[in-house]
Amino acid sequence: MPGCSNANSADSHHLLAIPHDIEKKKRRNDGFDTGYLPTTDVLVVGAGPTGLTLACELMRRGIRCRIIEQSDAPMPLARTLGIQSRTLEVFERMGIVAQVLRQAARVDGNNFYAGTKRLVHMDFGLLAKDHSIPYPYGASLPQTTTERIFTELLQASGADIEWSSELVDFWQEDDAVVALLKHPHDGSDETIRARFLVGCDGAHSIVRKTLGFPFEGTTYEGETLHADVELDWKKSHHEIHRWWSGFGQLDTVPMPGEQRWRLAAFVPAASSQEVPRASRELFQRFLHERARENTAIARNPTSLANFTINRRAVTQMR
Ligand SMILES: Cc1cc2nc3c(=O)[nH]c(=O)nc-3n(C[C@H](O)[C@H](O)[C@H](O)COP(=O)(O)OP(=O)(O)OC[C@H]3O[C@@H](n4cnc5c(N)ncnc54)[C@H](O)[C@@H]3O)c2cc1C
Repeated sequence: MPGCSNANSADSHHLLAIPHDIEKKKRRNDGFDTGYLPTTDVLVVGAGPTGLTLACELMRRGIRCRIIEQSDAPMPLARTLGIQSRTLEVFERMGIVAQVLRQAARVDGNNFYAGTKRLVHMDFGLLAKDHSIPYPYGASLPQTTTERIFTELLQASGADIEWSSELVDFWQEDDAVVALLKHPHDGSDETIRARFLVGCDGAHSIVRKTLGFPFEGTTYEGETLHADVELDWKKSHHEIHRWWSGFGQLDTVPMPGEQRWRLAAFVPAASSQEVPRASRELFQRFLHERARENTAIARNPTSLANFTINRRAVTQMR
């Protein structure tokens, strides 16, 4: 069945619903013959990890698709790193697991501390006892690198990201979805027909909003700060180290590259003061206050960022 769907949550199966405003748009466009427009089987909106995975998997199965992205270039900020054991199995099916593991830092365990005392040690190697698990470890790779690997795979399959292509509106017709795109780099418009349109357009999804799907959940009260740094300390570079303290949590996650680590700290919202901006000096203080680490020096910071975390999911997928 042709239709529009949204990839902002776990999989679920619902019948296609056409909200009233889309019906209105369809009527508004009566008399506008869209039958001659360029067509594709699937229009993938958004070239983040979700959209790129979908486009690669469609092409692998011989299903024609176009993948559009409103930005004019890949995002330089590393954002997420963590790749789970199960995701490595998916990457194997996609044919990119060797490439990912060659460039990633392998993660064999997780440690939880209070000050200098280790409370919990999780050894991912124990997963190897279950012979159905082919990758008994995780991996750490900046999102920028994972997205580049997906993009190269997509190009090898004969498709490519259409940069500077923003979805601004869409509506359902009997046998297709009609989508209006804007190309901000030259101010031009484009209208295309697709058998399916899939919203992989992130937290502020125009697809979700146009379909009127609720995005239920909560926003954490506080900010997460992160920085990628060099750290000359003795902690195993094959494991994650996490501290719980009265000041808040501090995570240190190994990254590719000798002594390279992602530091992430949660700073709860306090009405009396603003959450400070991520900086090398601030993380040096967090290491001292939260991990009682007084000798390691954080150097060469990149990917400094403050952001809020939402725990939300759409209530229906199509
Ligand atoms: C600063 C920061 C740090 C983060 N750190 C972590 C972390 O440490 N750990 C973690 O697990 N996660 C982290 N995340 C979250 C992680 O990056 C996201 O979960 C992930 O990117 C979601 O992938 P996605 O493909 O669903 O959406 P996105 O990566 O958001 O991709 C959606 C894409 O759609 C495009 N788009 C949007 N609207 C349109 C439109 N109308 N037309 C065309 N294109 C459109 C956007 O430009 C974007 O490229 C972080 C996020 C940020 C912002």
